Formats: sequence, C-alpha cells, structure tokens
Amino acid sequence: MINLQKLWDMQQLEARQGKIERMLKQNDIVLELRRIKRNIEAGQREFKSMKERYRALEREIDQEDYQVGELKKQITELNGKLFGGEMLNKKEIAGAEKRIAALKRQVNETENAGIMLLEEQEILKNKLLKLSEILKEQREEFYLLRERYYQMQKKNQDELSQIIQSKEKLSQGIDGEVMQLFYKMQEKLKKPVAKVEDGVCGGCHMTVTFDKLKELKKNKIVKCDNCGRLIFKK
Ligand SMILES: [Zn+2]
Repeated sequence: MINLQKLWDMQQLEARQGKIERMLKQNDIVLELRRIKRNIEAGQREFKSMKERYRALEREIDQEDYQVGELKKQITELNGKLFGGEMLNKKEIAGAEKRIAALKRQVNETENAGIMLLEEQEILKNKLLKLSEILKEQREEFYLLRERYYQMQKKNQDELSQIIQSKEKLSQGIDGEVMQLFYKMQEKLKKPVAKVEDGVCGGCHMTVTFDKLKELKKNKIVKCDNCGRLIFKK
C-alpha cells in the first residue's frame, strides 16, 4: 500500500520546519536589542560626564564658601581695629574704610557667583534624575525584550528538534522510491502531495476526473491531471 498520508504528513512537517528555520534566522529583535543597547551606552556616557561636572561644581561651591568666609573674617578684623580705637590716624581710618568697602564688594561678587553655581548645580541635578529614570526604563525594556527573544528562540529550537525527530520516524514508514519521487517533484512544486476532498484536488482546487478517482481506489500512484501533484484520499 502506497501510503501517501504519511508523505503528506512529511510535507506538512517540512513546511513547518521551513517556517521555523526562517523565524530563527529573523533578526529584527536582535537589531532592536542592539539599538536599545547603543542608546543605553550613550546615556550612560552622558550621565557620567554630567556627574563629573556636578562634582566639580560641588568643589567650586565649597571654594567660594571658603573664600566668602575668609573675606568676612578680614572685614571683621578691620572693623574691630576701626571701632576698637586702634586707629587714630585719619588717613589710616579712610584707608581701612575703603578696604572694607572693597572687601564687601568682593563678598557680594563671590556670593553672586556662588548662587549661579548653585543654580547650575540644581539644573544638573534635575537632568541627572531624569536621565537616570530614562536609563532605568531603557534597561527594563532591554531585559524584557531579551527575555522574550530567548524564550522565542528556545521554543522554536525545541519545536525544530521535535520536527526532525518526527520526520525521521515518519520516513521509516515511507517507501524509499516514493520518497525519492517526492523530493524530485519538490524541485518544481513546493508541496507535491495533495489531498482529494469532495472530488477536488487540494493542490489546485480542480475537480479530479472520474478515472483518476477510480485509480485512487487501486494501489497506484496517481497524479492530478491539472497540477500534476500526487493525490490521495483519506
Ligand atoms: Zn491538482
């Protein structure tokens, strides 16, 4: 008995195998993963350089604070001398007053510069927070997508090895010559085996002639008159 049902099953398995092999080769997820990774790396570099600037600002602000402290100390000292009665000479007094005024201006300038640094620091701090949020989201997206990709690949790999096993088992029940014929026909037709249902060829959807239907009842290899496929009835 020529078992075309098994050959048809083989054909189905091969079609599925081809589909899975194509899916395994598809790399749009890999490309997307690479794109996200590049974004994360660029973000991390930006974060690092902003953080360095933030630290530098901290040092600058400390220095300005120290400078203001020193200037104020000088003012206090001069005021002490001025009001402590140490200075009697008018010229000396005028000089000290001038010096105090200059020191106060310097304090003011330094404090203003300090405020600008603080403002810059505040802006930078907000940018850092925002960027770290974005990076966190991107990392989550990356890990999720990578997990999905691994699972998908694993599922396809598992199914592929199942198919290969099934094909191996199935081929043992198919006559060697029939198998050869199948492969030869496959050079021209992707699916060389067709089921006949309600008198219609499943390959070309044309009605199968009465003669062919009669032949199907005998133990013969029958081809569809229209498309040339090997036909069989369940
Ligand atoms: Zn046909």
